[in-house]
Amino acid sequence: MLDGIIGQELAKRYFQRAVDGGRLAHAYLFHGPAGVGKKSLARALAQTLVCNAGGKAFCGVCPTCRMFIAGSHPDFRVLDGARKSIGIAEVRELQQALVYRPYGTRHLCLVWEAEGLTAEAANAFLKTLEEPPAPALFILTSSRPARLPPTVVSRCLRIPFRPLTTDEITSGLETMGFKGDVAPLAARLAGGSLGRAAELAAGGDDPDWQEKAAHLAHAFLSGIGTAELFARARELGERAEVLTRTEHLLLWYRDLLLWREAGAEELLTNVNRLEQIRVQARLADGPALVRSIGAIEDARKKLLANVNVRLAAEVLCLRLAGLAEEEQDGYDRATGWSSV
Ligand SMILES: [Zn+2]
Repeated sequence: MLDGIIGQELAKRYFQRAVDGGRLAHAYLFHGPAGVGKKSLARALAQTLVCNAGGKAFCGVCPTCRMFIAGSHPDFRVLDGARKSIGIAEVRELQQALVYRPYGTRHLCLVWEAEGLTAEAANAFLKTLEEPPAPALFILTSSRPARLPPTVVSRCLRIPFRPLTTDEITSGLETMGFKGDVAPLAARLAGGSLGRAAELAAGGDDPDWQEKAAHLAHAFLSGIGTAELFARARELGERAEVLTRTEHLLLWYRDLLLWREAGAEELLTNVNRLEQIRVQARLADGPALVRSIGAIEDARKKLLANVNVRLAAEVLCLRLAGLAEEEQDGYDRATGWSSV
């Protein structure tokens, strides 16, 4: 039934047994990081429950499957809190629909990123969750379950979703048609999220990012003049861009440190750039690399806290060039950096 879903073996095994044995709970909360299969599993489960074939897997071709795929199955409803909040009007509409008997055995109500329910909507939804007027299965997903009202969480059976392993993501990307080096590289970078890996593999980000990170690191490690340093800081771009580029730089410096200290190829993210990593790792000592990584992490924290972008980029470049110490030093105090 759920063979097409990558990873999440515990959750899949649970649902296979629960469906086979007719022991499904009436409300579930799928919680875990974004992009690890919560929605895919919820949809696959719902389709299995509506399919006319009535087997362990949905057939994909029967009239109800086709209705489901087209998004027009009358029992299937989605509230989506991913992009904007879910208001009371949407919950009322759901409640109206649940008054009627389902077309099949039960209504299927999916709530994506349920923390998007407004307080008022969550309150109304709670009543439906407790006493649906007709047979219904609710599946809520959330990547930030701590933001859900405890009253809603307590009515649901919680199913944890884990970050995917690099191998799982690689095989998922290959199934999607990504071939060659790109799948394993994107898998390493994606932090356990197949969704993020697919974005990376599709070149959603800068395709030359590795080259740019390598170039920047090389400039800092081999000595850089002040004028060039400020030019580099400007090149880092605006806030969103700086965040992405510092993420790449962080991965690059981590690789330099890992290679220098452990010499372990299998630990590297930028494993396809081994030669550059080798050369650059010889240019710095371990403690300097550790300080550089700390500087990049600090800069990212400040950027996320909305500090002045230009200033953050400049301080970062100074620290990477070894021209400024950590935040306690004179430069930082003079610019008000440490007060942020
Ligand atoms: Zn079917």
